[in-house]
Amino acid sequence: MNILIQHGMYFDETDGELRTGDIAVAGGKILNLGAVPSEFHADHILKAAGCFVTPALVNAHTHLAMSLFRNLADDMSLMDWLEHKIWPLEEKMGPSELYWASMLSMVELIRGGVTASADMYFGMDQVAQAAIDSGLRLNAAVGLTGDRRTAREKLRSFRDFFHQWEGAGEGLIRVDIGPHAPYTCDDGCFEEAAACAADLDCGIHVHLSETAGEVEETKNRFGLSPVELAARSGLFDQRCIAAHCVHVDRQDIELLNNSNVHVVHNPSSNLKLASGFARVKEMMDMGVNLAIGTDGSSSNNNLNMFEEMHLTALLAKALSGDPTALPAGQVLRMASVGGAAALGLPESGGRLRIGAPADIILVRMDGVHNSPLHDPRAAMVYSAQAADVDSVICNGRLLMERRRLPHLDEVEIRRKAQEAFEHLQ
Ligand SMILES: [Zn+2]
Repeated sequence: MNILIQHGMYFDETDGELRTGDIAVAGGKILNLGAVPSEFHADHILKAAGCFVTPALVNAHTHLAMSLFRNLADDMSLMDWLEHKIWPLEEKMGPSELYWASMLSMVELIRGGVTASADMYFGMDQVAQAAIDSGLRLNAAVGLTGDRRTAREKLRSFRDFFHQWEGAGEGLIRVDIGPHAPYTCDDGCFEEAAACAADLDCGIHVHLSETAGEVEETKNRFGLSPVELAARSGLFDQRCIAAHCVHVDRQDIELLNNSNVHVVHNPSSNLKLASGFARVKEMMDMGVNLAIGTDGSSSNNNLNMFEEMHLTALLAKALSGDPTALPAGQVLRMASVGGAAALGLPESGGRLRIGAPADIILVRMDGVHNSPLHDPRAAMVYSAQAADVDSVICNGRLLMERRRLPHLDEVEIRRKAQEAFEHLQ
């Protein structure tokens, strides 16, 4: 479908100027920016007056099917929460529960201006199907736990999953391997995951150094920090999404400063579980690739990347004692370009430029809370709300227009998700 976005405000990458103009989308890519030739035939015109047109956001670490556990078990410690609330319910989840939980999350992502996510969970065929059915990009990481023997067994079926899903949905789906964390995997599991990823040339998605307890336990078991263990096991030899990285020292940051590694900051989850404060500014200053994620809806409790951007900026300033730390433009880049790189999207992913994938959002800037409008990038991080997202395009396809989702029955999806949760009880 050819789409013409008319009279929108956008930042011109070539000179950094804020402009108002038209954007043409065709064949899933951005065809023109600013002046659109008169011979361009638009199948659909999207009026963007009053909107900021910007690259769609990327949620670089999440567990989409956990939406069923939203607001179910809060105000608990991480291990108590996992062992007594989440894991017993997860054991009962079947394909239908996984699918409708994922669909609920897909609607939430679209409504919040997110077109690509990196997910780690089990039953990933259901999550991947939900992404295709809703038109969103997904990096589907199949969760892996245990030792070398259990990893080998699981990786045999993973290879079938990889061949079935890699590039599915006209390239919307990418497949990663998800060795869960140093507290649920041993070094043998990490090594098997790394070897399989190298063999298939796929990415890795892992939780690292989320809590001080995890770091202490990993040092006791292996004589290494979680980051050192991951590096030594070969997890950083392929594109690697390293979620959290809250408790890292300078030596760890040097290891994370590797072009394959993408650290994903999850401020809401880290705050809610009292995990600590990631040293985002320090990592950025040292050259580490950074992205932002929501984590699962049960430790957040939503998939709102606007909240995450807001917290990312505020926490970096408070922690460094420097109000100039992590300005809005940098935070917005983490949530777009940084996320796209973490997911292995093309070089132009997360950017508004000719030839880039047409993953674009229109965000209303004429609400009272964004007025008067000075800098739309500052508005995106400091004053805008997810509900300001007006329209969403992913891979050149219009997924939301004027807050309406033309391809999805939202009421039915909510009903099915509610039913799915009741089945688990
Ligand atoms: Zn997580």
